[in-house]
Amino acid sequence: MTGTVQGVGFRPFVFRHATRLGLSGWVLNDGAGVLIEVEGAESSILEVSRLLVDAPPRLARVGTITDDVIPLEGDAGFTIVESSAGGIPTAPVGIDTATCDACLAEVEDPGDRRYRHPFTNCTDCGPRYTIVESVPYDRPATTMAGFTMCGRCQGEYDDAGDRRFHAQPNACPACGPQLRWTTQDAATSVGDDALRAAIDALREGRVIAVKGIGGFHLAVDATKDDAVAELRRRKARDDKPFAVMVRDLAAVRELCELTTAAEDALSSPGRPVVLAPRRPGAALAAGVAPGLPEVGVLLAYSPLHHLLLDGVARPLVMTSANVSDDPIAYEDDDVATRLGGLVDGVLGHDRPIHIRCDDSVVRAVGERTQVLRRSRGLAPAPLPLAVPARHPILGLGAELKSTVAVTLGSEVVASHHIGDLEHLATYRSYLQAIDHLCGLYAIRPAVVAHDLHPEYLSSKLAADLELPTVGVQHHHAHLASCLTEYGRSDPVIGLVFDGLGYGTDGSLWGGEVFVADLRGFERVGHLAPVTMPGGVRAIREPWRMGVAWAHRAGADHPFDDPRADAVGDLVRRGHGPVTTSMGRLFDAVSALLGMRPVVTYEAQAAIELEALARTVPRGEAVAYPVDVDRDERGMIRIDPSTLVATLMRERQRTPRAVLAASFHESIGRAAAHAAVMAARERGLRTVALSGGVFQNPRLSEIVEEALGAAGLEVLVHRIVPPNDGGISIGQCAVAAATT
Ligand code: ZN
Ligand code: ZN
Ligand code: FE
Repeated sequence: MTGTVQGVGFRPFVFRHATRLGLSGWVLNDGAGVLIEVEGAESSILEVSRLLVDAPPRLARVGTITDDVIPLEGDAGFTIVESSAGGIPTAPVGIDTATCDACLAEVEDPGDRRYRHPFTNCTDCGPRYTIVESVPYDRPATTMAGFTMCGRCQGEYDDAGDRRFHAQPNACPACGPQLRWTTQDAATSVGDDALRAAIDALREGRVIAVKGIGGFHLAVDATKDDAVAELRRRKARDDKPFAVMVRDLAAVRELCELTTAAEDALSSPGRPVVLAPRRPGAALAAGVAPGLPEVGVLLAYSPLHHLLLDGVARPLVMTSANVSDDPIAYEDDDVATRLGGLVDGVLGHDRPIHIRCDDSVVRAVGERTQVLRRSRGLAPAPLPLAVPARHPILGLGAELKSTVAVTLGSEVVASHHIGDLEHLATYRSYLQAIDHLCGLYAIRPAVVAHDLHPEYLSSKLAADLELPTVGVQHHHAHLASCLTEYGRSDPVIGLVFDGLGYGTDGSLWGGEVFVADLRGFERVGHLAPVTMPGGVRAIREPWRMGVAWAHRAGADHPFDDPRADAVGDLVRRGHGPVTTSMGRLFDAVSALLGMRPVVTYEAQAAIELEALARTVPRGEAVAYPVDVDRDERGMIRIDPSTLVATLMRERQRTPRAVLAASFHESIGRAAAHAAVMAARERGLRTVALSGGVFQNPRLSEIVEEALGAAGLEVLVHRIVPPNDGGISIGQCAVAAATT
């Protein structure tokens, strides 16, 4: 059997049923998955085979089952055979999984030997990807190798009737890892005293670091304004929202409006952060998610989280332990050096984390969820490829929100979220992730797929690897990642809207209409190009894009700043790179409406523009005219110049929120119109929406509605991020189809 079948209790599952049905033989984990040999009555063998397919263990995801008839060997009884180190290790590694109900009940039961034990787990729950050093997945190949099980734990581990049978991280207070609390004045405590000290610190409003599954969090009482403000100051983070952890769904409901889809996502075994609309009057500090209608919430996912939240009895901010944009800290020594001065105490422990992994992020919109960051609890679940790879491919991703991916024949496996490569520490972590991923699956890449941007560190790395390379255009990779999600390889229309990506003509694309399949693409339309005055500075300073778009619209810029006139000159002379980016248009409009001249995190201007638009019902927004015409090469051109001029004129008499909503309505319908034109011309019936701009729920809704009304099928991202976190998957899909 292949698929996610190791580390999920498959061997004990087979053992229990085989024994019950009187079959003899064995089961083992090998490099490819699970191998089973059974002898006995045909009906019993058929029954076991049926259970493998119909009722596998909770966390298993069965890929393929291949069977064969072999001569009888006369095995006596049924056994679990130790892992063989042979074979090619291509078996998917399990994902880190939230504490199950049975384990939680033990942790909360004063009569149980695991009462208040923060490292309780079983075959249905606990850490996996973050503790695995190599495959096959067995205790010696994990960071639990240094802990010798006590007699009772070993007994559970060996007992096929026990739910900890072969649970690799199995532990108890007598033999497992220990908590340790350290403070600046060098006071330390261990075990339950450490836990209680951390709880006291949180109750006093202190900022502490807590070691979790994939790294340390910085934690603080989420209801205390001054404590949250202090955390922002220390972490050097101005506005970017913090995630809030609570103990159960009832506690989330006090903070957020939840749909069924949101509740399902919150309680899924991967326990992602879920962005959901904040309930009016929710008891949260103002600084948790400044200026945003949504708050990111997640449920406790380890016994330690449950114990902390029970002790503090308030929601906790749980944000990655790092300063600014550095990677999340995951080693106890590292926390002391990098963050020691920033926190009032560190709650660490001696179970090492092998690979760091940030929390995943999912947005719930109505009855749909969309993964925005695919990391802890979701990576490295494999995805099927529509066109299988003929050889191992390594996809290096882009530059921001980096992930890497490898192909395993008919599947692609993407890493956890790594971050923005321009930071040296993140780049090191990126190189580590490549080694780890290739090591886990024993992959020696035959082909390296990379972005076309010559300045991306990922592109430069591709050139240094001395392997055959495939350059995949950024927006083609976005689109291919969306097609992969749906198992599609046929030509579609793609609307790919994002911040920036290197185009085949050397300009910066980002508002593109493609006719494409996995093999290639044709650019058939685009947003009207404007100058990006100051180059990359225009990303941090949306007012620069405001000047550029005001110029194209034939209007005076509204900025009362002498620098704006100088930038206006640059634009008039066409000085700076040219871009067709939709993300930059959103920035420009935000600045022109007087909202966000300068941003402190990526896409902040667009996120806040959407948040404002959302306060206005669709029906109260105006769809202003937007030209959808042809450029000099005959390509479809979406030209919002008149829209920009209209918005600037209306500024005096129309509320800003209505203008924000009207901008969404206008540009969304124009984009859909462009896609419909392209679809009619090419006789295609499907439109895929990709790129980070499609994280905007209001825009997505408008575009989808208009495309649906035109009778077209619409593909939207659900499990692969529409942003650059999905690029490595798309690169692999394109390289698989073309090499
Ligand atoms: Zn469990
Ligand atoms: Zn023990
Ligand atoms: Fe992108």
